[in-house]
Amino acid sequence: MGFDLVLKGGRVIDPSQNIDGVMDVAFAGGKVAAVGRNLDASGAATRDVSGHVVTAGLIDLHTHVYWGGTSLSIDAEDFCRLSGVTTAVDTGSAGPGNFLGFRKHVIEKSQVRILAYLHVSFAGIYAFSNTIMVGESEEMRLMAPADCARVAEENRDVIVGIKVRCGAHASGTQGWNALKMPLEVADHVGMPLMCHIDHPPPSYEDVVGMLRPGDILTHAFRPFPNTPCNAQGAVKPVVQEARKRGVLFDIGHGKGSFAFKTARAMLANGFPPDTISSDVHKLCIDGPAFDQVTTMSKFLCLGMPLPEVVRASTVNAAMALKRPELGTLKPGAVGDATVLEIKDGSFDYWDVVGEHITGTQKILSKGVVLNGKWWHPA
Ligand SMILES: [Zn+2]
Repeated sequence: MGFDLVLKGGRVIDPSQNIDGVMDVAFAGGKVAAVGRNLDASGAATRDVSGHVVTAGLIDLHTHVYWGGTSLSIDAEDFCRLSGVTTAVDTGSAGPGNFLGFRKHVIEKSQVRILAYLHVSFAGIYAFSNTIMVGESEEMRLMAPADCARVAEENRDVIVGIKVRCGAHASGTQGWNALKMPLEVADHVGMPLMCHIDHPPPSYEDVVGMLRPGDILTHAFRPFPNTPCNAQGAVKPVVQEARKRGVLFDIGHGKGSFAFKTARAMLANGFPPDTISSDVHKLCIDGPAFDQVTTMSKFLCLGMPLPEVVRASTVNAAMALKRPELGTLKPGAVGDATVLEIKDGSFDYWDVVGEHITGTQKILSKGVVLNGKWWHPA
């Protein structure tokens, strides 16, 4: 059987199969068909990607893409086409009160794959902009556990978990109270919870202490206050225990949630993030987060090896989503791939507290394959 598309001669990095070498990647019928040297491409569309890196389609585990339905969201297709992402995971832009609009008007119409964590708050993140900022998790009357459970059950094809935002900005003075109800919902529907953290209350310790195996803490490498490490740069014991238990640590860069200082301390302690994500939204798409490849570049420049950066943006994210058909180039997997250029030079990067570093590398997207077809301008 012939292939539909073959990417020829790139450096294939697929941590799910311990692959790192110059190979071809072939697609047929919308799926990955083969990975190997000198594949027979007769009759197939081919692209010479020599000098570039080929990975499974990147997964951005933390985005906001309910465009038009929520003020913070950006357009998933515009974003993904340029940032190497083939699966955008929306994290709580929508709640049970407005999820069906997200599904019908955005998810079902989108060429790019969109999965979602459903907010436990009735209308999701409904008041987030430069002029209006109201924490949806502060008002307990908006907590909608029964509706959230029902909508999650009815949309298991696209809803992968439950979302809540905990912290002084998102849940006011509720503290870890804000975490109890969403945990109950996640338990009830048998899905992971993704929890956001900002300023205390609640404390980082209180939040990670309550999370279950498979739950995800996003904004995990945020700046002080509420960091995973102490002032001396040691990882807090409760954070170590949480990782041992199976709690996952996601970056979720965003506008206020990623500090080089924290990341350096965590990497120095041998505690890399499980997943790298951008938390792209209206207020950070023009910096400091920009997108997935920029967030990956920051970790590369902090010394995380490229295959580990790829692991945190592909197979680890797929495991967090419980979608083993994503994030891998195993034959039979979803036919998504990303072609990256790793540029050498001198590049400026900023975190959310204004720390600047000059990096020697930058990851750029040169295009993506979506369901076995090249999906990129030109
Ligand atoms: Zn977010």
